[in-house]
Amino acid sequence: MLKESSLFQLFRKHKGYLNVTDLVLPLWCEVQHEYYLLRRIKKKTPKMERGIKLHQILEYETSPPSERRVLDRTSKEEPWALRLLRQLEGIMLLQKNGITREFPIWGYYKESSIFGIIDEISLNNPSKSNFNSDIRNYFNFKMYDLSFVDNKTRFSSRKPGASQILSSKVQLMYYVHLFLNYFPSLGEKQQSIFRDISPTYSNRLHSQSHWWNMFLSQLSLDGTKDLGPKFLEQSILSIPDIPEDVFAGHNSLNGLYALVFASAKKLHLRLTDDNLTIAYRNDKTGEVVYKDKFSFSNKLLEASYTKAYQFWHNLREPEGVPAEEVYKCRSCEFQKECWWLKKKQYYPLSSP
Ligand code: SF4
Repeated sequence: MLKESSLFQLFRKHKGYLNVTDLVLPLWCEVQHEYYLLRRIKKKTPKMERGIKLHQILEYETSPPSERRVLDRTSKEEPWALRLLRQLEGIMLLQKNGITREFPIWGYYKESSIFGIIDEISLNNPSKSNFNSDIRNYFNFKMYDLSFVDNKTRFSSRKPGASQILSSKVQLMYYVHLFLNYFPSLGEKQQSIFRDISPTYSNRLHSQSHWWNMFLSQLSLDGTKDLGPKFLEQSILSIPDIPEDVFAGHNSLNGLYALVFASAKKLHLRLTDDNLTIAYRNDKTGEVVYKDKFSFSNKLLEASYTKAYQFWHNLREPEGVPAEEVYKCRSCEFQKECWWLKKKQYYPLSSP
């Protein structure tokens, strides 16, 4: 029987959005994910900690640790302003070095507001000579091919299983969808390449401010509110490449968003086929042991989103693993009590 309150109402409504991982983790087993949520279990295994450490090492390879922090804990706007500064820094790093890591991104997929952090964005054909560090100069005629990478930690030399590969691909596709909707001008001259991008993409192409205002209003954020002199000082100190007067004229969420948008537009970025990669890295050395390159598939993303949306909004009962994936149950901590296993009469322990 379906519960009265949805998982979204119980656990995510107060935030106003879902994380990309919220949409991807139930792909492993919805019943298991519901157990975690209802029992408020936040897993942090030693393996997960090693994965987090590896991500941090990779991040620091491309950008030094930042001193930026929330200065006014009562401000709802500041955490988002910090994310905008991180985006701005990311675009500058792309401009300078052709690569950035841990790039925050947010927006919509259909009716859901979503937030995520992209592991790695790089340019396939960077050329420093064409860049101009002055953000006020928007003239740059070369196009730069974007590449998106999600880094996964591998604890063995074996190739990841199909289920794991699928969720990694879907996760990266969410990021790409959010990035392209965040910067719709990237597609203005490249619409043929975006044939397979989300159907909402072209609708959003000319309604940039619409989604932004919708997002602010949904999270009760004031885009016009001045972030104050201390935050301005922090912005100037943390990204010295941007002139002080430019920051001073953009010291609000709307202002910082306009700066991010303008700096990305200046880069003339585009996405071509086969530029999405999952890089599986050795947990100790960080070396890439296996790479999976693929193109964006809206069909796959849409099917996966529909399932996740139904799960989070209680439109049906959660689904456990199918018979061919019963191997997942052997390491599951809910195996003894799992209602799905009982209903399906699977016997994971006696299986080979
Ligand atoms: S025992 Fe299997 S079906 Fe049940 S929650 Fe765990 S993984 Fe899912």
